[in-house]
Amino acid sequence: HEKIELITRNIRTFPDFPVKGINFKDVCPILKEPSALSAVVDLFEEQTKQSFPQVDIIAGIEARGFLFGPLLAQRLGVGFVPVRKKGKLPGPTVSLSYALEYGVDVLEIQEDAVTAGQKVVLIDDLLATGGTMHASCKLLEKHQAEVLGCFVVIKFKDLKGEEKLHDYRVFSLLQC
Ligand code: 5GP
Repeated sequence: HEKIELITRNIRTFPDFPVKGINFKDVCPILKEPSALSAVVDLFEEQTKQSFPQVDIIAGIEARGFLFGPLLAQRLGVGFVPVRKKGKLPGPTVSLSYALEYGVDVLEIQEDAVTAGQKVVLIDDLLATGGTMHASCKLLEKHQAEVLGCFVVIKFKDLKGEEKLHDYRVFSLLQC
C-alpha cells in the first residue's frame, strides 16, 4: 500500500529515549511532510466511514492525539475533544486515575466534552501497553459516551496493548 509506505518512511526511531532501553518512535517527520500527514488522515477517514459512520465526536489523547485528531474530525465534519493529563483543562472536569508501572496517572475531559450516548472514536499516535488508551476509553464511558473504536498510527505488537483493549475495536496503520 502506497500510503502505508509513505507513512512508514516518515517515522524514525530513537534508541534510549526518554530512558535507556526504550526505542522511541518519532512521528514528527510525518507532520513535516504534507503528503505523509494527508495519508494518515486519509486512512483514518476511510476506516471511520467504513466501520463507524455514526461517529459523533473524535477524542484525541494528549499530546500526539491532538496532532491527528482535529484533522480527522474536520474531514468527517464532527467535533474534536481533548483527553488531557490532570490539571490542564479549565472548568468542571471528569477524571479517571489509572495504574502505571510505578504509581498512578490521571486523565481528564471537560464535563461538557461529550453528552450521554454520544459515539466517540479515540485517536493517539501510538499503542504500547495500551494503558493510556484503555484509561481514555473508561473515562469517556464514565461520562456515558459510547466508544466505537480506537485509532493509532503505530501499534507495538509485543507489548500486548490489544489484549488490554480486548473489549474495544482497535485499528493501527502500522505494526512494529
Ligand atoms: P501505553 O499507555 O500504550 O503504554 O503508551 C502509549 C502512550 O505513550 C501514547 O500516548 C504515546 O503517545 C506514548 N508513547 C509511548 N511510547 C511511545 C513511542 O515510542 N513513540 C511515541 N511517539 N509515543 C509513545
